[in-house]
Amino acid sequence: MKALKVDHIGIAVKNIEETLGFYQDVLGLELQGVEVVEDQKVKVAFLPVGDTEIELLESTSEDGPIAKFIEKNGEGIQHIAFKVDNIEEAIQYMLEKGLKMIDETPRYGAGGAKIAFVHPKSSNRVLVELSER
Ligand code: ZN
Repeated sequence: MKALKVDHIGIAVKNIEETLGFYQDVLGLELQGVEVVEDQKVKVAFLPVGDTEIELLESTSEDGPIAKFIEKNGEGIQHIAFKVDNIEEAIQYMLEKGLKMIDETPRYGAGGAKIAFVHPKSSNRVLVELSER
């Protein structure tokens, strides 16, 4: 298996509206869209840059994973997503290598992508997402 590119970088923020100014007005990125992923209690804003994108993640609930992340670490980079061409094969490969997966079967993330998270214990405390779309 081989990661094809950095699909996106997920950044946990308290408030997307208040954060957009930096990305739009300072960095000159364009907001492509906003989507709520009910399953993960998160609102996602997509800002493409080059062939990757920045995803701003705002929790829609006090007990969502992004709210918990901010409570523990403050705002900041929450995960890095790598594009793979076959997520089932990628997960199988990780498991065979003895890595711990948060998702042993893919679930659906923002933009209808099939995603799976590698457990940070297996990736030097970096939350790594595999994404196929
Ligand atoms: Zn992501």
